[in-house]
Amino acid sequence: MRVDLIVIGGGVVGLSIAWEAARRGARVRIIDHANVDKQASWAGAGIIPAPPGPRASQPLEHLARRAAQAHQSWADMLRDHTGLDTGYQRCGGLFIADQPGEAASLAASRWVWEEEGFEFQRWDNAKALGQAPQLGTCPGWSDVRTLIWTPGEAQLRNPRHLQALRLAITRLGSEVLEEAVRDIAQVDGQWQVRTSRSAHTAASVCVAAGAWTGALIGRFGIATEVVPVRGQMLLHRFDRPIYPFVLNVGSRYLVSRADGHLLVGSTEEEAGFDARTTEEGLRGLEEFATRWLPQELQQGGRLPPPIASWAGLRPASIDGFPVMGPVAEHEGLFVAAGHFRAGLTLSPAIAEVIVDMLEQKQPAVDVRAFRPERGWKGSLTPPN
Ligand SMILES: Cc1cc2nc3c(=O)[nH]c(=O)nc-3n(C[C@H](O)[C@H](O)[C@H](O)COP(=O)(O)OP(=O)(O)OC[C@H]3O[C@@H](n4cnc5c(N)ncnc54)[C@H](O)[C@@H]3O)c2cc1C
Repeated sequence: MRVDLIVIGGGVVGLSIAWEAARRGARVRIIDHANVDKQASWAGAGIIPAPPGPRASQPLEHLARRAAQAHQSWADMLRDHTGLDTGYQRCGGLFIADQPGEAASLAASRWVWEEEGFEFQRWDNAKALGQAPQLGTCPGWSDVRTLIWTPGEAQLRNPRHLQALRLAITRLGSEVLEEAVRDIAQVDGQWQVRTSRSAHTAASVCVAAGAWTGALIGRFGIATEVVPVRGQMLLHRFDRPIYPFVLNVGSRYLVSRADGHLLVGSTEEEAGFDARTTEEGLRGLEEFATRWLPQELQQGGRLPPPIASWAGLRPASIDGFPVMGPVAEHEGLFVAAGHFRAGLTLSPAIAEVIVDMLEQKQPAVDVRAFRPERGWKGSLTPPN
């Protein structure tokens, strides 16, 4: 089969790019060594936070707004193409501050939000209890200082979203190959990708290998490192959805799925490429869940045991911006990585921008700030 584009990495970023390119008529081959249990995209919570307001001016905020507009239509298109429901729903998000520092941080954010036109409301306790009376029996409720409602927060079921993307791509004549990529090289003006078992050639290659991206592109002069940041997660199962919205407290959250599954997330740890859970990490999540789940679900102050736990490696860039775009002086080689806690959130817009650049069109969002060659050359260690 003639291949126009090889995408290395079948996480949400790689699959989204492949789907966008395939819908525009390209023949795409995705190569992924299929370790889905370590993949950040599978491990994530599926939260799509409310987009920044219309007057927000940073490139990352533009990307998030563009992505938020696309999620509903992507969910509809994926359902039409595959018959699979990704569980996308604009459920809203409640932010709770139960510590003085968090309350101060929410209060400070308010000025920026108003400036940018971000959609939010300050709720009092009675308003929150009117929407979710079960909050009142949570052990943490007596410590609530500030409540902020963001109606634009959404969620989807990320494993289903990945499954739908994969199916949609293959239905358009593109393919997914389960092999580990060893090497990328330019041969006679084409890009050659070698795996443990085979070699593949295309005019363009996009490396979307998440936290593992650096190992594949290090030698092409990419100056901005992508590093793994571990996030652990717990899964409970109840006989009904517990909250109608995403509940956010600091950097932790509870996500209720329609069928009674409830995700508790997450930690942020630098542990190299170790994607195992730890006793300490899971205990912290369990304590958080105990504090923010209604008392009637608990017996003797304890929740029933979770039905599963796992960890994934978020791809974080060292300066907090994604690493996205063409690799300078290597025509046809692209990177899309480093989206840290927002890879799923941003994925439709990442795909649009990367495929625009592949087609040598001006992308709708200015992503020059994310160019791969920015940042420090060499290692993170400062020179002596
Ligand atoms: C616990 C947790 C919760 C999260 N919650 C959210 C959330 O609610 N909302 C949100 O927007 N984001 C969330 N994130 C972040 C989000 O999951 C990531 O930003 C996103 O998944 C990154 O996608 P990716 O495709 O770049 O990387 P990945 O999903 O890691 O995919 C990279 C792929 O590359 C493949 N690969 C690597 N090296 C090779 C190689 N040599 N050969 C072949 N294949 C290779 C891997 O197998 C992998 O499948 C969360 C992450 C974690 C861990």
